[in-house]
Amino acid sequence: MLEKVLIANRGEIALRILRACNELGIRTVAVHSTADRELKHVRLADEAVCIGPALSAQSYLDVPAIISAAELTNADAIHPGYGFLSENADFAEQVEKSGFTFIGPTADTIRLMGDKVSAKQQMKLTGVPTVPGSEGALPDDPDEVLRIAREIGFPVIVKAAAGGGGRGMRVVHNEEVLLSSIQVTQSEAQAAFGSPVVYMEKFLQRPRHVEIQVLADGQGNAIHLGDRDCSLQRRHQKVIEEAPAPGIDPALRNDIGDACIRACLEMGYRGAGTFEFLFEDNAFYFIEMNTRVQVEHPVTEMISGIDIVREQLMIAGGRPLPIKQEDVTLTGHSIECRINAEDPRTFMPSPGTIKTFHAPGGHGVRVDSHVYSGYTVPPHYDSLIGKVITYADTREGALAKMRQALDELVVEGIRTNAALHRELVTDTSFMAGGVSIHYLESKLEHER
Ligand code: ADP
Repeated sequence: MLEKVLIANRGEIALRILRACNELGIRTVAVHSTADRELKHVRLADEAVCIGPALSAQSYLDVPAIISAAELTNADAIHPGYGFLSENADFAEQVEKSGFTFIGPTADTIRLMGDKVSAKQQMKLTGVPTVPGSEGALPDDPDEVLRIAREIGFPVIVKAAAGGGGRGMRVVHNEEVLLSSIQVTQSEAQAAFGSPVVYMEKFLQRPRHVEIQVLADGQGNAIHLGDRDCSLQRRHQKVIEEAPAPGIDPALRNDIGDACIRACLEMGYRGAGTFEFLFEDNAFYFIEMNTRVQVEHPVTEMISGIDIVREQLMIAGGRPLPIKQEDVTLTGHSIECRINAEDPRTFMPSPGTIKTFHAPGGHGVRVDSHVYSGYTVPPHYDSLIGKVITYADTREGALAKMRQALDELVVEGIRTNAALHRELVTDTSFMAGGVSIHYLESKLEHER
């Protein structure tokens, strides 16, 4: 069992981790930048260490500073949260080399999944369906590249093996621009990710984003907790998520979940993880794996009754997974709205002091947020100020609760995207369920 955990993150996820630690009797160390002294979890942690100035590169991304803080406070494990260093294999390696437990998979697993070409190859090994495309990295021979593209069929998408955050990819609609598009993507990939390796796959026209949550202990046990639909996105950023994904045949869900379990067991996966898929014409196509806890994990917690962060801590403490797949029951429906400090029309960040904050509440309403009246949202980080999550027996019920919750939510002093959410939860297409990943952007486009 872990005794003291250092939380290498900030905002709502740092508070989420702190709460799970407290419930388990694990002591906590908060590390923070000079801009984050007023964060709720910093106040609530057993110990707090300032690790640097506001700039992330000099604080939340500063590996030696974080490891020194762990040494100073005698922590035994480090939870990376999401974003920042959570999928940085070198960090995971440094943490373990310094004698601490990294709360997540091994550095080798992170590396394997961090490269999209090797991740895709690993999935094929265990029968996880992938998007049809090139066998690994694209060759240099232009004739060969053309042959591959013809075989896949246009449109194709050229993607950087080391890409992330929706960057480093380009859709190609015909042969004429294929080679030049590949060249541009390669040089962009080199500049942004330090590797020119690109691969090619079929461009799916109207897919949904559906992902599978897994838990594995690295000791031969793995389970899946069903799926989530995160198709409502803007610029590849998820806006609303829900579980289960509407309209998916439970047998198909189980099949894909089983394939993910096999993949976990094959690579000796440890911790919480998410297999992301595009879903089109009733078929799943793997695109990438996130080797960490995700922002949208609460919707899965609501329908499964399993505390994912608690499980992360228990797995890191060495306890074998006590839950068997047949013990997992998914009931009801859950929806999450990400509340961002941003202008609802222009989407420009809107940092500043929150004069008044009233969180919604009631049966089936959960709010994961670190903000409070008087809190100043700093301009240096992600604009997420909280997540409103609702749960009910049915999707309609969860939507009705979300409408009520959003009506109750008051954030004064800064602008937020709450108005956009209020509009989305009464949008007829979204209410019908199953919109594609392009739906939100085209809706916004039409309203301009
Ligand atoms: P990243 O790591 O940058 O998030 P992903 O591989 O997860 O990259 O892809 C990000 C997004 O790009 C997907 O959610 C989807 O919107 C789009 N995308 C990626 N691959 C394809 C594809 N083969 N067809 C259509 N859209 C795609």
